[in-house]
Amino acid sequence: MLSGQISSLTLPVGQMSANCHILYDERSHEGVIIDPGDDADFIIRKITDLEIKPLSILATHGHFDHVMAVNEIKIAYKIPFLIHQSDLPILRSMRESAKYFLGIDPGPTPIPDDYLKNNSKLDIGHFSLKVIGVPGHTPGSVALYSSKVAKIFVGDLVFAGGGVGRTDHKYSDEKKLIKSIKKILRMPEGIEVYPGHGRETTIAELAISLTDYIGTT
Ligand SMILES: [Zn+2]
Ligand SMILES: [Zn+2]
Repeated sequence: MLSGQISSLTLPVGQMSANCHILYDERSHEGVIIDPGDDADFIIRKITDLEIKPLSILATHGHFDHVMAVNEIKIAYKIPFLIHQSDLPILRSMRESAKYFLGIDPGPTPIPDDYLKNNSKLDIGHFSLKVIGVPGHTPGSVALYSSKVAKIFVGDLVFAGGGVGRTDHKYSDEKKLIKSIKKILRMPEGIEVYPGHGRETTIAELAISLTDYIGTT
């Protein structure tokens, strides 16, 4: 079957309004779910409405607000969950963090079926995503890039308007974050950037809004 146009859908979910992204081929309907942070029923309803066939669940990093609906979606579609190995310790604290910060119990931590490796290519039916390591906010943060549609999903690396990922956690590293941001800013300016919270932006817009941050550090 020929591949069709690749579309994406961004659904802000949960109390932290984390962006869950669904990227899918309009012809084969095969797709991928990135960062199902909460509201599994809502995500599943959207997938059903659009007749999407999810093939895997990917996490940009291990923070609880990006992974709380993984288990329910894994069970609903019997598909694998992948995350970078370096974020396993953070992933393991999902339940405790959700209880502490949100006062809710999301159930047990999801178990990855495989790991996202930097510079690897993931085949999602008729399209692929490149895994780009962007450590800093967390050690195992990754950006997922589709050259076919010129879209990159960056998790909590950077935000529209020039905000950057928090680095006040003990496992964070601001120097690495800056290096990771610079790596992304070297990509073609027209690429649409989808952060883990808030609206989408572009490389060109980020380059302008991050000039001070990158310039002074
Ligand atoms: Zn985060
Ligand atoms: Zn987040």
